[in-house]
Amino acid sequence: QTIGRFFDEACARHAAREALVVRHQNVRLTYAALKQRVDALACSLMRLGLKRGERIGIWSQNNVEWALTQFATAKAGLVLVNINPAYRRAELEYALNKVGCRALIMSPAFKSSNYLEMIGDLAPELAQSEAGKLQAAKLPTLEIVVRMGAERTHGMLSFDDLLHAPTGDELDALEALGEELQFDDPINIQFTSGTTGQPKGATLSHHNILNNGFFAGEAIRLVEGDRLCIPVPLYHCFGMVMGNLGCLTHGATMVYPAEAFDPLATLETLAEERCTASYGVPTMFIAMLDHPRFNDFDLSRLRTGIMAGSPCPIEVMKRVIDKMNMREVTIAYGMTETSPVSFQSGTDDPLDRRVSTVGRVQPHLEVKIVDNEGRIVPRGTPGELCTRGYSVMLGYWEDEAKTREAIDAGGWMHTGDLATIDEEGFCNIVGRIKDMVIRGGENLYPREIEEFLYRHPKILDVQVVGVPDQKYGEELCAWVIVREGQTLTETEVRDFCQGQIAHYKVPRYIRFVETFPMTVTGKIQKFQIREQMKRELG
Ligand code: ATP
Ligand code: MG
Repeated sequence: QTIGRFFDEACARHAAREALVVRHQNVRLTYAALKQRVDALACSLMRLGLKRGERIGIWSQNNVEWALTQFATAKAGLVLVNINPAYRRAELEYALNKVGCRALIMSPAFKSSNYLEMIGDLAPELAQSEAGKLQAAKLPTLEIVVRMGAERTHGMLSFDDLLHAPTGDELDALEALGEELQFDDPINIQFTSGTTGQPKGATLSHHNILNNGFFAGEAIRLVEGDRLCIPVPLYHCFGMVMGNLGCLTHGATMVYPAEAFDPLATLETLAEERCTASYGVPTMFIAMLDHPRFNDFDLSRLRTGIMAGSPCPIEVMKRVIDKMNMREVTIAYGMTETSPVSFQSGTDDPLDRRVSTVGRVQPHLEVKIVDNEGRIVPRGTPGELCTRGYSVMLGYWEDEAKTREAIDAGGWMHTGDLATIDEEGFCNIVGRIKDMVIRGGENLYPREIEEFLYRHPKILDVQVVGVPDQKYGEELCAWVIVREGQTLTETEVRDFCQGQIAHYKVPRYIRFVETFPMTVTGKIQKFQIREQMKRELG
């Protein structure tokens, strides 16, 4: 099934049901209204001459236009390229050129910098162009720029103009195109988070992401009438696949609290929109739970949701269940390259497993855990997690070499993550291979030490990394964020570890910090911590 055909059926089935609520734009659309706008936009994109398989970038924070663009490009057979709204000039140029975007849809509403000027700077000819077509030296493939909103400036097209009612002929052409599209056509290029280095562009098909959105929703038992709060970014698979496609495939309502994550706006949305489900990375849940006004909000309708994206501390899971009432919350594990989810706990898994593992493998996927030589390890032994099945990406965009490194000849995706799987199939993510610390020949897993330090009542958040050491090869270093209003000393931390964990697991270096280096998705970039420590230690 293609996303477009599925979309049409779902909109017909749920016509009167609320499809989308965008709080910060004061927008409410039923499935019928959503379809009408999506069809109009899809016809306009075809009218502009954009053809099946061509790339179109979207560079924006969360808003109604994002959702319309996602579904319209799928219907028009275009490859949507998700561009991180935090990207600046050089990164934007890199992303657009890397995949050869012919069109770009951008938000005018960024707070901190003048994006209009930035585009103008990349494409100086833009201002002179009449028809919205341009030829810029630095962006050789870009011809069309659409600016969200009603305004027509600097030769850009207005997004609102593209929503004008299509003619019957245009709708017929859209329908005919919909019949031609194939389920394994590329439909989306998503850049990985860049947690370990340069983001990579994963090419995904209808089949990849539509199924994955469906199964992510199945695992939390999403049903018609559920209202899912989506505070996570849409340009990332967590928002656009698990969020938007999770809702579409279950007739649920997508609820966007704000253009970017804001703990207060999310709490307000959960209460006022009577949300039954919510998503987030661990840092988002922590920010809500620790918000001074947390107790002002009625979260009694909340039932389920997904925490994912990075290691989910057991303590945080417990608080989400007890304090936010999300008794059916699950943890998911995945990566952009696998659409993203491959493991997810079930709502009725035993509580201790549900808070401490990433659950079991998703239906229709295969997994194995292998050692350095590619041999399958015994149950319970850590090794590299490999996955195979419908969710594995088509490849990195026009990068055969990188694709072959990641996906082997047998079709296995090598995740780069270390994991164990127990007798019952529950999977534990031990950490990234790149983060593993080898101290004097001993393999140390920073995750284990972080979990231990989390138990300290004064510690709000902690990250453990390895830093180079003359004697042992590597030594452990902990960066600690102390809870507000508390003070903590190195000696107190060491005393806390004393007799509780092996002496070689006690971090040699302990630093107190205010924040961690993060990607815009809220993922902590350990490589940045390592770099900073290397500089500090000389
Ligand atoms: P890059 O590949 O550019 O360095 P990234 O790997 O962080 O960035 P994503 O594809 O967004 O980019 O994230 C996938 C990774 O996130 C996984 O490989 C894994 O390391 C981590 N991850 C995801 N979910 C979980 C989870 N539930 N528990 C632990 N780690 C997780
Ligand atoms: Mg990765």
